[in-house]
Amino acid sequence: GGDRRGKPRAPSFLTFEEIGGQDRAKKELKEALDFLIRYDEIQKLGIRPLKGILLTGPPGTGKTLMAKAAAHYTNSVFMAAAGSEFVEMYVGVGASRIRDLFKEARTRAQKENKESAIIFIDEIDVIGGKRDGGQHREYDQTLNQLLTEMDGIHTSESPRVLIVAATNRKEMLDSALLRPGRFDRHIEVDLPDKKGRLHILNIHSKNKPIAEAVELEHVAEETFGFSGAQLESVMNEAAIYAMRDEVSHIEQRHLSLAVDKVMMGEKTDRESTK
Ligand code: ATP
Repeated sequence: GGDRRGKPRAPSFLTFEEIGGQDRAKKELKEALDFLIRYDEIQKLGIRPLKGILLTGPPGTGKTLMAKAAAHYTNSVFMAAAGSEFVEMYVGVGASRIRDLFKEARTRAQKENKESAIIFIDEIDVIGGKRDGGQHREYDQTLNQLLTEMDGIHTSESPRVLIVAATNRKEMLDSALLRPGRFDRHIEVDLPDKKGRLHILNIHSKNKPIAEAVELEHVAEETFGFSGAQLESVMNEAAIYAMRDEVSHIEQRHLSLAVDKVMMGEKTDRESTK
Protein backbone atom coordinates (compact mmCIF):
# COMPACT_ATOMS: atom_id res chain seq x y z
CA GLY A 1 0.00 0.00 0.00
CA GLY A 2 0.87 3.68 0.01
CA ASP A 3 2.79 5.60 -2.57
CA ARG A 4 5.95 3.66 -3.26
CA ARG A 5 6.24 4.38 -6.95
CA GLY A 6 9.77 4.54 -8.18
CA LYS A 7 11.23 3.43 -4.88
CA PRO A 8 13.01 0.11 -4.94
CA ARG A 9 11.56 -2.34 -2.47
CA ALA A 10 13.80 -2.78 0.54
CA PRO A 11 14.59 -6.46 0.18
CA SER A 12 14.96 -7.22 3.85
CA PHE A 13 11.44 -6.04 4.64
CA LEU A 14 9.47 -8.86 3.26
CA THR A 15 6.52 -10.38 5.03
CA PHE A 16 5.15 -13.90 5.01
CA GLU A 17 2.13 -12.55 3.08
CA GLU A 18 4.36 -11.93 0.08
CA ILE A 19 5.27 -15.60 -0.10
CA GLY A 20 2.77 -17.66 -2.05
CA GLY A 21 1.74 -21.18 -1.09
CA GLN A 22 4.09 -22.88 1.38
CA ASP A 23 1.43 -22.83 4.09
CA ARG A 24 2.93 -25.70 6.04
CA ALA A 25 6.49 -24.41 5.75
CA LYS A 26 5.43 -20.94 6.84
CA LYS A 27 3.57 -22.33 9.84
CA GLU A 28 6.52 -24.49 10.89
CA LEU A 29 8.93 -21.61 10.47
CA LYS A 30 6.78 -19.24 12.52
CA GLU A 31 6.51 -21.84 15.27
CA ALA A 32 10.28 -22.19 15.32
CA LEU A 33 10.73 -18.43 15.34
CA ASP A 34 8.51 -18.12 18.38
CA PHE A 35 11.43 -19.68 20.22
CA LEU A 36 13.39 -16.55 19.40
CA ILE A 37 10.55 -14.20 20.29
CA ARG A 38 9.31 -15.90 23.48
CA TYR A 39 12.82 -16.08 24.67
CA ASP A 40 12.21 -15.33 28.36
CA GLU A 41 9.82 -18.26 28.73
CA ILE A 42 12.23 -20.53 26.86
CA GLN A 43 15.00 -19.57 29.20
CA LYS A 44 12.90 -20.00 32.35
CA LEU A 45 11.95 -23.50 31.31
CA GLY A 46 15.56 -24.32 30.57
CA ILE A 47 14.85 -25.14 26.96
CA ARG A 48 17.87 -25.28 24.72
CA PRO A 49 17.94 -22.17 22.50
CA LEU A 50 17.23 -22.66 18.83
CA LYS A 51 20.39 -21.91 16.91
CA GLY A 52 19.89 -23.21 13.42
CA ILE A 53 17.02 -23.78 11.01
CA LEU A 54 17.63 -25.67 7.79
CA LEU A 55 15.38 -24.94 4.82
CA THR A 56 15.45 -27.70 2.24
CA GLY A 57 13.91 -28.04 -1.18
CA PRO A 58 14.37 -27.42 -4.89
CA PRO A 59 15.75 -24.12 -6.27
CA GLY A 60 13.47 -21.14 -6.61
CA THR A 61 10.81 -22.22 -4.14
CA GLY A 62 11.22 -19.24 -1.82
CA LYS A 63 13.83 -20.25 0.73
CA THR A 64 15.51 -16.85 0.57
CA LEU A 65 12.13 -15.16 0.86
CA MET A 66 11.39 -17.27 3.94
CA ALA A 67 14.62 -16.19 5.61
CA LYS A 68 13.87 -12.53 4.91
CA ALA A 69 10.33 -12.87 6.19
CA ALA A 70 11.74 -14.56 9.29
CA ALA A 71 13.85 -11.49 9.97
CA HIS A 72 10.84 -9.22 9.57
CA TYR A 73 8.63 -11.43 11.76
CA THR A 74 11.16 -11.45 14.61
CA ASN A 75 12.29 -7.84 14.14
CA SER A 76 15.84 -9.04 13.59
CA VAL A 77 18.76 -7.70 11.67
CA PHE A 78 19.13 -9.70 8.44
CA MET A 79 22.47 -10.78 7.03
CA ALA A 80 22.82 -12.96 3.96
CA ALA A 81 25.69 -14.96 2.53
CA ALA A 82 26.08 -17.88 0.16
CA GLY A 83 28.24 -20.94 0.73
CA SER A 84 30.16 -20.23 -2.46
CA GLU A 85 31.36 -16.90 -1.05
CA PHE A 86 33.49 -18.80 1.45
CA VAL A 87 35.33 -20.86 -1.10
CA GLU A 88 38.81 -19.41 -1.46
CA MET A 89 42.10 -20.64 -2.64
CA TYR A 90 43.90 -19.78 0.55
CA VAL A 91 43.35 -21.84 3.65
CA GLY A 92 41.78 -19.82 6.43
CA VAL A 93 40.16 -17.09 4.35
CA GLY A 94 36.76 -18.80 4.34
CA ALA A 95 36.96 -19.33 8.09
CA SER A 96 37.80 -15.72 8.75
CA ARG A 97 34.89 -14.63 6.56
CA ILE A 98 32.57 -16.71 8.71
CA ARG A 99 33.98 -15.05 11.81
CA ASP A 100 33.45 -11.61 10.26
CA LEU A 101 29.89 -12.44 9.29
CA PHE A 102 28.93 -13.27 12.86
CA LYS A 103 30.80 -10.27 14.19
CA GLU A 104 29.05 -7.95 11.77
CA ALA A 105 25.64 -9.41 12.58
CA ARG A 106 26.17 -8.66 16.27
CA THR A 107 27.52 -5.18 15.62
CA ARG A 108 24.67 -4.27 13.31
CA ALA A 109 22.06 -5.56 15.76
CA GLN A 110 23.55 -3.43 18.53
CA LYS A 111 23.74 -0.38 16.28
CA GLU A 112 20.16 -0.77 15.10
CA ASN A 113 18.96 -1.58 18.58
CA LYS A 114 17.62 -4.99 17.64
CA GLU A 115 17.47 -7.86 20.07
CA SER A 116 18.25 -10.49 17.51
CA ALA A 117 20.05 -11.16 14.27
CA ILE A 118 19.28 -13.72 11.58
CA ILE A 119 22.16 -14.90 9.45
CA PHE A 120 21.04 -16.54 6.23
CA ILE A 121 23.48 -18.89 4.51
CA ASP A 122 22.32 -20.06 1.09
CA GLU A 123 23.89 -23.17 -0.51
CA ILE A 124 25.14 -24.40 2.85
CA ASP A 125 26.13 -27.68 1.17
CA VAL A 126 29.05 -25.89 -0.52
CA ILE A 127 30.82 -25.48 2.83
CA GLY A 128 28.95 -28.11 4.82
CA GLY A 129 29.32 -31.08 2.52
CA LYS A 130 30.37 -34.42 3.92
CA ARG A 131 34.02 -34.39 4.95
CA ASP A 132 36.13 -37.05 3.39
CA GLY A 133 39.29 -37.54 5.35
CA GLY A 134 41.05 -34.19 5.13
CA GLN A 135 41.14 -33.83 1.39
CA HIS A 136 39.54 -30.42 1.44
CA ARG A 137 41.34 -28.62 4.20
CA GLU A 138 39.95 -25.25 3.25
CA TYR A 139 36.35 -26.48 3.37
CA ASP A 140 37.04 -28.17 6.69
CA GLN A 141 38.30 -24.99 8.29
CA THR A 142 35.34 -23.01 7.05
CA LEU A 143 32.88 -25.59 8.29
CA ASN A 144 34.71 -25.89 11.61
CA GLN A 145 34.52 -22.15 12.06
CA LEU A 146 30.79 -22.20 11.43
CA LEU A 147 30.36 -24.99 13.99
CA THR A 148 32.49 -23.06 16.47
CA GLU A 149 30.37 -19.95 15.98
CA MET A 150 27.18 -21.95 16.46
CA ASP A 151 28.48 -23.65 19.58
CA GLY A 152 29.42 -20.22 20.88
CA ILE A 153 25.85 -18.94 20.77
CA HIS A 154 24.62 -18.72 24.34
CA THR A 155 21.21 -18.32 25.85
CA SER A 156 22.17 -15.24 27.79
CA GLU A 157 23.76 -13.56 24.83
CA SER A 158 22.46 -10.31 23.40
CA PRO A 159 21.75 -9.93 20.54
CA ARG A 160 20.44 -13.44 20.04
CA VAL A 161 21.73 -14.99 16.85
CA LEU A 162 19.84 -17.47 14.69
CA ILE A 163 21.24 -19.09 11.58
CA VAL A 164 18.91 -20.00 8.74
CA ALA A 165 20.58 -22.10 6.09
CA ALA A 166 19.26 -23.37 2.78
CA THR A 167 20.14 -26.32 0.59
CA ASN A 168 18.64 -28.38 -2.16
CA ARG A 169 20.99 -31.24 -1.33
CA LYS A 170 20.29 -32.12 2.25
CA GLU A 171 21.65 -35.67 1.87
CA MET A 172 25.06 -34.16 1.09
CA LEU A 173 25.42 -32.39 4.43
CA ASP A 174 28.00 -33.40 6.99
CA SER A 175 26.32 -34.98 9.99
CA ALA A 176 28.19 -32.58 12.28
CA LEU A 177 25.92 -29.82 11.01
CA LEU A 178 22.76 -31.72 11.81
CA ARG A 179 23.52 -32.55 15.42
CA PRO A 180 21.27 -31.26 18.24
CA GLY A 181 22.14 -27.65 19.02
CA ARG A 182 23.11 -26.98 15.43
CA PHE A 183 20.79 -27.29 12.43
CA ASP A 184 18.37 -29.51 14.28
CA ARG A 185 15.18 -27.98 12.88
CA HIS A 186 14.43 -28.85 9.27
CA ILE A 187 11.73 -27.27 7.18
CA GLU A 188 10.85 -28.55 3.73
CA VAL A 189 10.12 -25.82 1.17
CA ASP A 190 8.71 -27.86 -1.67
CA LEU A 191 7.36 -27.09 -5.13
CA PRO A 192 3.94 -25.44 -4.83
CA ASP A 193 0.71 -27.35 -5.46
CA LYS A 194 -2.01 -25.87 -7.67
CA LYS A 195 -3.43 -23.69 -4.92
CA GLY A 196 0.06 -22.48 -4.07
CA ARG A 197 0.81 -21.74 -7.72
CA LEU A 198 -2.34 -19.65 -8.02
CA HIS A 199 -1.38 -17.74 -4.90
CA ILE A 200 2.11 -17.07 -6.30
CA LEU A 201 0.70 -15.99 -9.68
CA ASN A 202 -1.62 -13.59 -7.87
CA ILE A 203 1.24 -12.11 -5.90
CA HIS A 204 3.29 -11.52 -9.04
CA SER A 205 0.41 -10.05 -11.02
CA LYS A 206 -0.31 -7.33 -8.47
CA ASN A 207 1.87 -4.77 -10.22
CA LYS A 208 0.71 -5.76 -13.72
CA PRO A 209 -2.32 -4.88 -15.85
CA ILE A 210 -4.23 -8.11 -16.42
CA ALA A 211 -7.16 -8.29 -18.84
CA GLU A 212 -10.44 -9.00 -17.10
CA ALA A 213 -11.09 -12.24 -18.97
CA VAL A 214 -7.82 -13.81 -17.83
CA GLU A 215 -8.12 -16.88 -15.67
CA LEU A 216 -5.00 -17.33 -13.61
CA GLU A 217 -6.57 -20.53 -12.32
CA HIS A 218 -6.02 -21.99 -15.77
CA VAL A 219 -2.36 -20.93 -15.69
CA ALA A 220 -2.00 -22.55 -12.27
CA GLU A 221 -3.37 -25.75 -13.76
CA GLU A 222 -0.96 -25.65 -16.70
CA THR A 223 2.15 -25.13 -14.60
CA PHE A 224 2.47 -28.39 -12.67
CA GLY A 225 6.04 -28.73 -11.41
CA PHE A 226 6.89 -25.02 -11.72
CA SER A 227 8.74 -23.31 -8.89
CA GLY A 228 7.84 -19.88 -7.53
CA ALA A 229 10.76 -18.41 -9.43
CA GLN A 230 9.44 -19.92 -12.68
CA LEU A 231 5.95 -18.60 -12.00
CA GLU A 232 7.41 -15.15 -11.46
CA SER A 233 9.12 -15.56 -14.84
CA VAL A 234 5.82 -16.54 -16.46
CA MET A 235 4.19 -13.30 -15.32
CA ASN A 236 7.16 -11.29 -16.50
CA GLU A 237 7.35 -12.99 -19.91
CA ALA A 238 3.60 -12.58 -20.37
CA ALA A 239 3.99 -8.83 -19.85
CA ILE A 240 6.73 -8.79 -22.47
CA TYR A 241 4.47 -10.60 -24.96
CA ALA A 242 1.73 -8.03 -24.27
CA MET A 243 4.16 -5.24 -24.95
CA ARG A 244 5.21 -6.84 -28.25
CA ASP A 245 1.53 -7.07 -29.19
CA GLU A 246 1.20 -3.40 -28.35
CA VAL A 247 -1.75 -4.00 -26.07
CA SER A 248 -2.20 -2.43 -22.66
CA HIS A 249 -3.23 -5.57 -20.79
CA ILE A 250 -1.89 -9.09 -20.42
CA GLU A 251 -4.22 -11.56 -22.09
CA GLN A 252 -4.65 -15.29 -21.68
CA ARG A 253 -2.68 -16.09 -24.84
CA HIS A 254 0.32 -14.09 -23.57
CA LEU A 255 0.27 -16.22 -20.47
CA SER A 256 0.08 -19.44 -22.50
CA LEU A 257 3.06 -18.36 -24.61
CA ALA A 258 4.95 -17.42 -21.46
CA VAL A 259 4.26 -20.82 -19.87
CA ASP A 260 5.64 -22.53 -22.99
CA LYS A 261 8.66 -20.29 -23.05
CA VAL A 262 9.54 -20.88 -19.40
CA MET A 263 8.95 -24.61 -19.83
CA MET A 264 11.18 -24.73 -22.93
CA GLY A 265 13.85 -22.63 -21.24
CA GLU A 266 13.93 -25.15 -18.45
CA LYS A 267 14.39 -28.02 -20.90
CA THR A 268 17.22 -26.40 -22.83
CA ASP A 269 18.93 -25.56 -19.52
CA ARG A 270 18.73 -29.16 -18.48
CA GLU A 271 19.94 -30.46 -21.80
CA SER A 272 22.92 -28.14 -21.89
CA THR A 273 24.09 -29.30 -18.46
CA LYS A 274 23.98 -32.95 -19.46
P1 ATP B 1 17.58 -21.00 -4.55
O1 ATP B 1 17.57 -22.31 -3.86
O2 ATP B 1 17.78 -21.10 -6.05
O3 ATP B 1 18.42 -19.95 -3.89
P2 ATP B 1 15.22 -20.03 -3.27
O4 ATP B 1 14.39 -21.18 -2.82
O5 ATP B 1 16.01 -19.30 -2.25
O6 ATP B 1 16.08 -20.47 -4.49
P3 ATP B 1 14.08 -17.48 -3.77
O7 ATP B 1 15.38 -16.81 -4.03
O8 ATP B 1 13.46 -17.25 -2.46
O9 ATP B 1 14.23 -19.03 -4.00
O10 ATP B 1 13.05 -17.14 -4.93
C1 ATP B 1 13.47 -16.56 -6.13
C2 ATP B 1 12.37 -15.64 -6.66
O11 ATP B 1 11.26 -16.43 -7.08
C3 ATP B 1 11.80 -14.72 -5.61
O12 ATP B 1 12.48 -13.50 -5.57
C4 ATP B 1 10.35 -14.56 -6.05
O13 ATP B 1 10.25 -13.59 -7.06
C5 ATP B 1 10.03 -15.89 -6.67
N1 ATP B 1 9.43 -16.85 -5.73
C6 ATP B 1 9.92 -18.05 -5.37
N2 ATP B 1 9.10 -18.67 -4.53
C7 ATP B 1 8.06 -17.85 -4.31
C8 ATP B 1 6.89 -17.93 -3.51
N3 ATP B 1 6.63 -19.01 -2.77
N4 ATP B 1 6.05 -16.88 -3.54
C9 ATP B 1 6.30 -15.81 -4.29
N5 ATP B 1 7.37 -15.66 -5.05
C10 ATP B 1 8.26 -16.68 -5.08
